[in-house]
Amino acid sequence: MPHHVSSRSKRSNQLHKRIISLFFLALFNTIVSAQQYDLVLEGGRVMDPETNLDAVHNVGIRDGKIVRISSEALSGRRVVHASGLVVAPGFIDLHQHGQDLASQRVKALDGVTTALELEIGVPDVAQFLKAKEGHSLIHYGTSASHVAARSLAFSAPLPAGAILPKSGPATDRPATPEQIERMRERLGKELDAGGLAVGMGIAYTPGATRLEVIDMFRVAAERRVPVYTHVRSGGRVEPGSSIESVSEVIGAAAITGAPLHIVHINSTCSRDTLECLSLVEGARAHGLDVTTEAYPYIAGMTAINSALFNPGWQEKGITYENLMLPDTGERLTKERFDALHNSSTTQMVVIFSNTQEMVDKVIPHPLVMIASDGAEGHPRNAGTYSRVLAQYVREKGTVTLMDALRKMSLMPAEMLERSTPAARQKGRLQEGADADIVVFDAGTISDRSTFQKPMEQSVGVRYLVVGGTLVMDEGKIVPDVFPGRALLGPGKRSASHD
Ligand SMILES: [Zn+2]
Repeated sequence: MPHHVSSRSKRSNQLHKRIISLFFLALFNTIVSAQQYDLVLEGGRVMDPETNLDAVHNVGIRDGKIVRISSEALSGRRVVHASGLVVAPGFIDLHQHGQDLASQRVKALDGVTTALELEIGVPDVAQFLKAKEGHSLIHYGTSASHVAARSLAFSAPLPAGAILPKSGPATDRPATPEQIERMRERLGKELDAGGLAVGMGIAYTPGATRLEVIDMFRVAAERRVPVYTHVRSGGRVEPGSSIESVSEVIGAAAITGAPLHIVHINSTCSRDTLECLSLVEGARAHGLDVTTEAYPYIAGMTAINSALFNPGWQEKGITYENLMLPDTGERLTKERFDALHNSSTTQMVVIFSNTQEMVDKVIPHPLVMIASDGAEGHPRNAGTYSRVLAQYVREKGTVTLMDALRKMSLMPAEMLERSTPAARQKGRLQEGADADIVVFDAGTISDRSTFQKPMEQSVGVRYLVVGGTLVMDEGKIVPDVFPGRALLGPGKRSASHD
């Protein structure tokens, strides 16, 4: 036996080993790239409102994230052929009251991947988050409710399932300093439980003084979260006009430093919406953090026994004839109104308070993001996003497709960044972003919900991806998938990091 292998044959052995290992490495890479992505959206018109990308590309998704956007062929365990379809960030609805599965389904069919209850907020944040965990088709979240905190401070908690109280002492009377302290404490606890903002419906708590409103903005400012609010009043009669009401909350934002989001400026300001928008514009021009939203319908909807219909409501430009019951289409008379307003049973009522002409001016306005204010009984629950794409982008041509996507995804995501850094990964179709994606046919997308049939599903969304999971496939809801996750405010996030 030789004492040693010659150095030459040693080197040649090493070379062989190296060639073999390179071969296996190449084979391994081929296998990996063949299954590189969980999901590939192939050949769609990829649109990103932040970078203005608008090109035919393939999108590779892995572990809930957009990993690759490329013109190269990508392979995945599932490949969706998206040619002829728009691939865009999933729509983010900052203002969605209907949080049950029936509403989530119609939202998904309308292209929505995140729907948040921020206007008023739920009465119990922890309970809401617990109930939805693992049972949600799309992402969810809520604000901490001033309306509910006030009801508790007056020892008149909201009935189960309600977010608005019947008008009474808890809505109409001014609070004592002790009651305001109880509200502050309650809001703090609700923010600790994961609330994304302070939600206010000042029109539903007309007893709240200007100072109470400022005190609630102070809670938001201390906790570094925004205030989302339905303002105090509408109409032109002073005091109490829509201009005064918008000025009140802009003032509270200026005094406290809390970012402010004014909900549904279209329905609050109706005939004076352009003037209200000029107030928002002026506040922003002077450095205030104020944003707003609208929905593309001429009617609103609310609870008829709420304080919004306290005496004096007709001075705001609404008559009995403008009020309609959603289930039957019945228009109200004084007698019928009185009975429903005085009842402790909550009945929703549709309010025809705006003109098509005004709505058509508001939706294209560059400061206006789209939010639905959705709940069962009003077609905006199911149709808001498709309606903007059908009516304003396709038919009237007053909003470009990219601007519509910006109003429905990027702008709300940027607003949400005031509450959570997780929103930086949403509202964008970019590598590294969350895989919350809508794939739709821009030529046919349409709302079908009407005031007669408010839950009729939109058509034209072909695929919807939520956190990397397909929840709509070839135009249909995928059964038994619940990838929706909570978006949490800084109170809960820091508590969970401690
Ligand atoms: Zn409202």
